[in-house]
Amino acid sequence: MTGEPQDDCLFCKIVAGQIPATIVRETDTTVAFRDINPQAPTHVLVIPKAHYRDAAALAAGAPELAADVLRETRAIADQEKLDSYRTIFNTGTGAGQTVWHTHAHVLGGRGLEWPPG
Ligand code: AMP
Ligand code: ZN
Repeated sequence: MTGEPQDDCLFCKIVAGQIPATIVRETDTTVAFRDINPQAPTHVLVIPKAHYRDAAALAAGAPELAADVLRETRAIADQEKLDSYRTIFNTGTGAGQTVWHTHAHVLGGRGLEWPPG
């Protein structure tokens, strides 16, 4: 939970431009790009440029940055013309987190069941 770039982090490499991604929005503090394995017609990941391992670490270490990420999820929904959408932070292995640089999934463009699996 450092905020510093990590050499072994996939999403830090996307922020640095070392790995390609389909970037759909960028701000001073965040990047949003299409998920490589989309689960809905719109499936965009919003990340802080700074490295925090999960949403809990981000909220504790940089709450203003957590707000930036959340604000960007709405901007993505507007850009994608979504009235309804779901914002998800998988936190921990048991919840399905596989990339340890916090990211908000923005899903929409189809009906979304509740509760999720
Ligand atoms: P999570 O399982 O919540 O940690 O989400 C990680 C997400 O990152 C998954 O939905 C993956 O499909 C996605 N992903 C992994 N590698 C890439 C990549 N290189 N570009 C875009 N999305 C990726
Ligand atoms: Zn990272």
